[in-house]
Amino acid sequence: MKRVIVVGAGASGMMAAITAAKNGAAVTVVDAMDRAGKKILLTGNGRCNLTHVDERPEESCFGAERVWIREVMRHLMPEDVRRFFLELGLPTFEKNGYVYPVTGQSSSVTAVLTSEMRRLKIKLKLSEKILALEKDGTIWKVRTDSWCYEGDAVILACGSKAAPRTGSDGSGYELAKMAGHRIRAVQPALTPVLCEGDFFQAVAGVRCRATVSLYRVTKKEPRKGPGRESEKESGRKPEEKRLIRRESGELLWTGYGVSGILVFQLSRFISTSSSPEKELILEADLLPDLSEEDLAGILRMKAKALGQEKLPALLAGFLNEKLIPVILKRAGMTKKNSCEEMAGDRELLGRLVWSIKHFRLIPRGTKSFDTCQVCAGGVDTAQVDCRTLESGLQSGLYFAGEILDVDGLCGGYNLQWAWASGYTAGRAAAQSGSAKIS
Ligand SMILES: Cc1cc2nc3c(=O)[nH]c(=O)nc-3n(C[C@H](O)[C@H](O)[C@H](O)COP(=O)(O)OP(=O)(O)OC[C@H]3O[C@@H](n4cnc5c(N)ncnc54)[C@H](O)[C@@H]3O)c2cc1C
Repeated sequence: MKRVIVVGAGASGMMAAITAAKNGAAVTVVDAMDRAGKKILLTGNGRCNLTHVDERPEESCFGAERVWIREVMRHLMPEDVRRFFLELGLPTFEKNGYVYPVTGQSSSVTAVLTSEMRRLKIKLKLSEKILALEKDGTIWKVRTDSWCYEGDAVILACGSKAAPRTGSDGSGYELAKMAGHRIRAVQPALTPVLCEGDFFQAVAGVRCRATVSLYRVTKKEPRKGPGRESEKESGRKPEEKRLIRRESGELLWTGYGVSGILVFQLSRFISTSSSPEKELILEADLLPDLSEEDLAGILRMKAKALGQEKLPALLAGFLNEKLIPVILKRAGMTKKNSCEEMAGDRELLGRLVWSIKHFRLIPRGTKSFDTCQVCAGGVDTAQVDCRTLESGLQSGLYFAGEILDVDGLCGGYNLQWAWASGYTAGRAAAQSGSAKIS
C-alpha cells in the first residue's frame, strides 16, 4: 500500500487526500492550523462559490499556459465537482454561472470533506507545521520541529501567501525550493487597487455601475512636422494605449482607490506589473449604458431646460452626488458654472462627457497579501507534469492548488482549480508514487 503524505488540509489538500485514499493509498494529511479548511470558510463571503458551470474554466485562469491548465482541469470538470459533492451529501445550485452549496454555508463544504476523510481513515494531523522535506532513497521525509513523517509520495498543497491568517503563509514555496523547484514571482491577486489622487476620501463608500478598462500606455516623443506645433508647445507627450482587460459591474470607491469584483478581476495585471504608476492606467466609464453621443444629446437638452441652474443640478440624475464635484473638477469646471453656459458651448459639453465616460485613474499597486483572495505566481509549471502534477525534478513529489503558478478570476475558478489539481495529484500519487523511482 502506497503511503501518501499531503502537506496542507485546504481545498486542494483534502481533495488530494480523499482521491489518494479512494485509489488505495494510506494517507496522512498534515496542517499547521488547528482545523482543516480555514480558507474555505472565508470563501464567497461565507457561502463558498465552489465552482463555475463554465466548460472552459482554464480560459479564466492565468499564470501557466492555457493548454497545461486544461490538461489538469479535464480530469475533474465543474460538473464532476458538483457530482462529487452531491455524492458526499452536499447538493449545489447555480446562480449566473456561479455554483454554491444549497445550504449557503461554506462550513457545510468543510464538514462533508472532513467527514469523508474520517470515513476513508485518512489521518489528519493538525497544528503541525512542516519545516523541511528531503528524500532518502525512495522514501520522502517530511519534518516538523519535533517529528518526521515518511511516505512513498508527498503532495505539497500548502496554498500561497494569500490570507496568511488561514495558514497559507508562503512556507510551501520554501519547501518546493528545497526540492529544487523554481518559484515565479508571487503577487497579490483578486484584491482592491490603490490609486493616485486626493479625492478618494470624499467619495469613499460610493458604489456605481461602471465599465473599467486597464490599459498599458507608452509615452511617445512629440511628433514633428506641420500641424504638430501644439504637441511640441504643450510639452505633453502623446501616448499609445493598449487594452489589457475590460470588466463591467459594480465599482466601489474607497479611501485609497477602487474595489469591487470588477477591480479584483483586473488586480493581478496591476500587481504583476513592475511599475504600475508609469505604465498602466485605468479608465472608468461611469455611464456604460449611454453612448457618448446620446449622453451629450441628453445633457445639452437638459442644460437648456435648466437655464441658470448650476451644473450639479444637471448631473444629479446621472451620478452619485459625491462624484459630481470630482467629475466637474476633472472637466475643468466648478459647481458655480451654470447649465446655460454648458448648453451653448460644445467644447465644455465635450469635456464633461469625456470625464464621465473616460474617468482616468492611475494605479499605484494593490492591497497586500493580507487582503487578497489568491496569488499570481508560484511553483513554475514548466517543471511539473500536467498529466499527474508530479515534479519533473523529483519523482514521488506532487503539487496541488494555489502553490502552483495558476490563479483564476472570481466566480469559482480558484476552487475549481484546487479541486481539479488535488484530484489529479491525489490519483497519480496513489497509483504510482515511488514505484516510478528508478
Ligand atoms: C476571502 C477569500 C474568499 C475567496 N472566495 C472564493 C470563492 O468564493 N471561490 C473560489 O473559487 N475561490 C475563492 N477564494 C480562493 C480559494 O479559497 C483558494 O484559491 C483555495 O482555497 C486554495 O486552496 P489550496 O488548497 O490551494 O490552499 P489553502 O486553502 O490556502 O490551503 C493551504 C493549507 O496548507 C497549510 N499549510 C501551509 N503551509 C504549511 C506548512 N508548511 N505545514 C503545514 N501546513 C501548511 C495551511 O494551513 C492551509 O490549511 C477565496 C479566497 C479568500 C481568501
